[in-house]
Amino acid sequence: MMTAHLPSERARELREVLARYSYDYHVHDTPAVEDAIYDSLFGELKRLEADYPELVTPDSPTQRVGSELLGGFQKVTHSSRMLSLNDVFDKADVEAWVVRMDKLLPGRAHEFFADIKMDGLACALIYEDGVLVRAVTRGDSYVGEDVTMNVRTIKNVPLRLRAEPGFEQFLGGRTEIRGEIVMLKKDFTRLNDKRRAVGEPEFANPRNLAAGTIRQLDPKLVADRPLHFRAYDLLHDDAADVPTNMFAYQALTALGVSRNMQASIFSSLTDVMHFINEWGERRHDLPFNTDGLVVKVNDRAQYAKLGVVGKQPRAAVAYKYAPEQATTIVKDIVISIGRTGAATPVAVFDPVQVAGTTVQHASLHNADEIARLDIRIGDTVVIFKAGDIIPQVESVVAELRPKNTPVFDYEQALATQYPELEFERSGKDVVYRVKGSSGDVLLKRGLEYFASKAGLDIDTLGEKNVVTLIDAGLVKDFADIYTLTKEQLLQLDRFGEISAKKLIDAIAAKKTPPLEKFILALGIRHVGVQTSIDLANTFESMEKFQVTTLEQLEAIDGVGKVVAESILAWLGDDDNLALLDKFRELGVVPHFVQRTGALIGQNFVVTGTLETMSRDEAADKIHARGGGFQTSVAKDTTYLVAGGKVGASKLKKAESYGTKIINEQEFTTLIGEK
Ligand code: NAD
Repeated sequence: MMTAHLPSERARELREVLARYSYDYHVHDTPAVEDAIYDSLFGELKRLEADYPELVTPDSPTQRVGSELLGGFQKVTHSSRMLSLNDVFDKADVEAWVVRMDKLLPGRAHEFFADIKMDGLACALIYEDGVLVRAVTRGDSYVGEDVTMNVRTIKNVPLRLRAEPGFEQFLGGRTEIRGEIVMLKKDFTRLNDKRRAVGEPEFANPRNLAAGTIRQLDPKLVADRPLHFRAYDLLHDDAADVPTNMFAYQALTALGVSRNMQASIFSSLTDVMHFINEWGERRHDLPFNTDGLVVKVNDRAQYAKLGVVGKQPRAAVAYKYAPEQATTIVKDIVISIGRTGAATPVAVFDPVQVAGTTVQHASLHNADEIARLDIRIGDTVVIFKAGDIIPQVESVVAELRPKNTPVFDYEQALATQYPELEFERSGKDVVYRVKGSSGDVLLKRGLEYFASKAGLDIDTLGEKNVVTLIDAGLVKDFADIYTLTKEQLLQLDRFGEISAKKLIDAIAAKKTPPLEKFILALGIRHVGVQTSIDLANTFESMEKFQVTTLEQLEAIDGVGKVVAESILAWLGDDDNLALLDKFRELGVVPHFVQRTGALIGQNFVVTGTLETMSRDEAADKIHARGGGFQTSVAKDTTYLVAGGKVGASKLKKAESYGTKIINEQEFTTLIGEK
């Protein structure tokens, strides 16, 4: 029940929504959404356009910088375009950027220059013979607005450049200094405190307040709102006067212009990454807001040679630190049934990076939460993840909802996904539970399976003991069995010295179960013996399995969409994650055994009844030798073991797949038992 988005339609919708957000942000300085959400949708559009270049339109937000000019100010054409920067989000992106540059400038080592990226608005200061004559906003990158009157009120903008030996050339002719106008965090807080005190609405953020202030028509009002200028670029009539970006910064200081003193040069990418990592935390202590770092090629001749693509120079990137919010599309809502019979809806997403990790599912908690957020399959949603906390769906971007998307009908979904079960929701309970499960029934059934031969094979933990332990309240989840003590058991009628010791020892002996048995024992819906083995072989540890993606799961032979989504739903249920953590804390560490054996790569189906062993025993023997045990004949079935006569349809299927049919005796010979 997935809603597919047509790329052309999606691109058009993204363009519309982004244009609206951009208008609010640039023209009215009142952002409708957080930057991270804008960036996330923008990133999606960029990827779509890269995959389908025919979808790029001239008015796409990817094709331009800034936005319309507000009016009221004189328009000024820039001497050279004021460009934007390409965003990168991790080390791999930075590496890819360097590879691209290496292709264009082969054999040339780049020296890197990195600075803190200030979150303000770009402005160009033009000095003639050392005197400030004009200040112009970036505008649409070609044409900006003359805001000289307002910029003159900014105290750290020099009206005349300082004369210092060695830098006299910048005092003659036209010198352009580009930088960012920001409002310092402390000034922003003070202004908002004042507004709150007199009951006026507070400003949204320092960046938009700075932008709004600079475009006020009344310079007196501007002077009341402290702004601050930090330069990041220096241009002179003769480009050769500024050989490197580091030199530009030295010159800026000499000329009396503020710039970030943290800017540095690096000879290797490793050192650049160090700088990036170091500022990931430290940037919060800076007096202004930052949204990342800027990394450039230091040499300006190389920089110029690398040129511009669209609206971005090739020789520079903006490194954005992992945002705590991102957008993605809800592919499906899958319901997971916990050990107590509680139904938990889990949203399955297109994988998305949030706060440094890939997120592809999140618990939606219950039907009320789905209704409150009005989440529907096919919706674009905002995912939030602060620090290490589990990802949550924060909101729906309703504007991007495909037409005619039905409201998610929870009861209908329960009926479709669990046709064999009945659910009930009693009184004030927000959770639907399996009818008649009254808590413990499923836990008992589940633990019995967990301890059974198919699962962890825990001696003496059969049906009766399971029921006793759960009824006594000693075991509330699977992991609790590892906390049991002999003393606790001796309190119960069922146990004596010997039987108690026996059970405790049997449980302790299964603290490092084989990974595939452990996965199977968890009782994830649709995950049977063979799937568990496949999962164990693919992931080799619980940790890796736990962060699997829909794509990884579907790439496994024999794992289809239903199984994959069921696994993700299980892993998206907070209770299950807590259970896995608890196992870990109790020292239960499943281990992966590399399969070796004569039957590797061979798959078996056993039909009918065997005389010398049960089906389970046959499966164990096959597994022990590295083979696969399947429940029905498929393309990759090597042997069909016939216990008795084989039905005509099975025979036909086996023949069509080239599956060899063998009898029990041939089978026992094959596995080396006779
Ligand atoms: P960008 O992220 O492409 O960055 C480029 C700019 O960074 C430069 O032009 C320069 O002004 C600035 N900069 C700051 N410090 C610098 C330094 N040390 N060296 C060089 N340059 C430095 O920015 P953009 O094109 O101005 O705007 C895009 C941003 O606007 C995005 O971050 C986006 O989130 C935001 N935006 C938000 C909304 C919204 O609705 N929230 C809407 C539109 C745009």
